[in-house]
Amino acid sequence: MRPARALIDLQALRHNYQLAREVSGARALAVIKADAYGHGAVRCAQALQEQADGFAVACIEEALHLREAGIGVPILLLEGFFEADELALIEQHNLWCVVHSLWQLEAIERSRVSTPLTIWLKMDSGMHRVGLHPAEYQTVYQRLLASGKVAKVVLMSHFARADELDCPRSEEQLVVFQQARQGIIAEVSLRNSPAVLGWPQLGYKELANDWVRPGIMLYGATPFEQEQVAASRLQPVMTLESKIISVRELPTGEPVGYGGRFISERPTRVGVVAMGYADGYPRHAPTGTPVAVDGHLTRLIGRVSMDMLSVDLSDLPAAGLGSRVELWGKQVLASDVASHAATIPYQLFCNLRRAPLLYV
Ligand SMILES: *Cc1c(COP(=O)(O)O)cnc(C)c1O
Repeated sequence: MRPARALIDLQALRHNYQLAREVSGARALAVIKADAYGHGAVRCAQALQEQADGFAVACIEEALHLREAGIGVPILLLEGFFEADELALIEQHNLWCVVHSLWQLEAIERSRVSTPLTIWLKMDSGMHRVGLHPAEYQTVYQRLLASGKVAKVVLMSHFARADELDCPRSEEQLVVFQQARQGIIAEVSLRNSPAVLGWPQLGYKELANDWVRPGIMLYGATPFEQEQVAASRLQPVMTLESKIISVRELPTGEPVGYGGRFISERPTRVGVVAMGYADGYPRHAPTGTPVAVDGHLTRLIGRVSMDMLSVDLSDLPAAGLGSRVELWGKQVLASDVASHAATIPYQLFCNLRRAPLLYV
C-alpha cells in the first residue's frame, strides 16, 4: 500500500478546544466547516461533542452530514441559508442560523416556521465581506424579534485582521460594533482563533465575551506569522507522513526533478518520497522547505510533482528506503511549510486529499 497518510490526533484536538475555552473564558463553537479543515468533520465532531458548546459549519449540507452521523449538539450555519427553502430543514434539524443580509431577514419574515429560530445576526463592523451595515443593524434586530419566527438573537461580527498583532483594526471594529449595538442586551460573538489567542483585551466580560468561534487553533496551527505565547500552547493535530521509496547518489552539478530547478552543489544523496501535490502537498513549496526524515530535519529539493517529491538525505546517512517522512505535524509545523509555500496552514489542511485519514 502507498505509505502516504494523515494521522489525526483527537486528543490534541480536545486539548486545543479546551485551550480556546480557557484563554477566552467564553463558550466556544468549534468551527468544523470544510470537513473540519480537512481533518474529517464527523470524527472531529464525535471527539468533541461531550465537551463542545456547539459546532459551526459553512452550509446546511455540512450540518445535515453531522446530524445524519448522530451529532445532536447545536450547529450554527455561518452563512445562514443560501435559498429560503432551506428554512424548513433548519427548523426540522434544529440548526442555528446566521443572518447577514436583508434578503435573509425578509425570507424569515415570510417563512412558515412554527418553532422559533435561533439567529446569529451578523454585522459588518469593517471587514466588508458579509454582514449588515451598522446603521441598519438595530432595525433588522427589531424586525427579527417582531417577526414571531425568532426565539433568540446572538449579536455577531468578524475580524479581518486579528492575525496582525500590531494592527489597530480589530479595536476599531470593536468600537463600531459596540456603538451600533448600543442598548441591545443579548449574547455576543466576535472572536475567531487569532482574536482568541492574540487579543485577550477584546474579551472582557462586558465586551463581547459570550461566544468565541475557534477554527484553525483547534487543529493546532498558529494563525500568526510570528511567535505568540498562547499559540505556543497549541498541539498539532494532523501529521502528514509518508516514506522514502527510492534513493540515489548524485555527483555535483546534476538537476533533480521537473524543470531541473534544483542542481546539486555537492555530491548529494536524494530520497524520493511518496507524496505529491495530488495529496495536497503544495506544489509551490520551494527547495529548502523543511521536512523530517526519521525524526531529523532536512529539506525538500526540486519541484514537487503529482505523486512524489525529493528530499536531501546527504547529512542523514542512516536514512534510506522505507524511512518515515513527516511533511508536517508535531516536528515540522504546517505553518512553517505554509510560509515557505507562500500560503497559510488553513489552505494546506483544506487541500488534503487522496492520502487516507487515520485517527489515533
Ligand atoms: C471560519 C470562520 C471562523 C473560524 O476562523 P479561524 O480563523 O479558523 O479561527 C470564525 N468565524 C467565522 C464567521 C468563520 O467563517
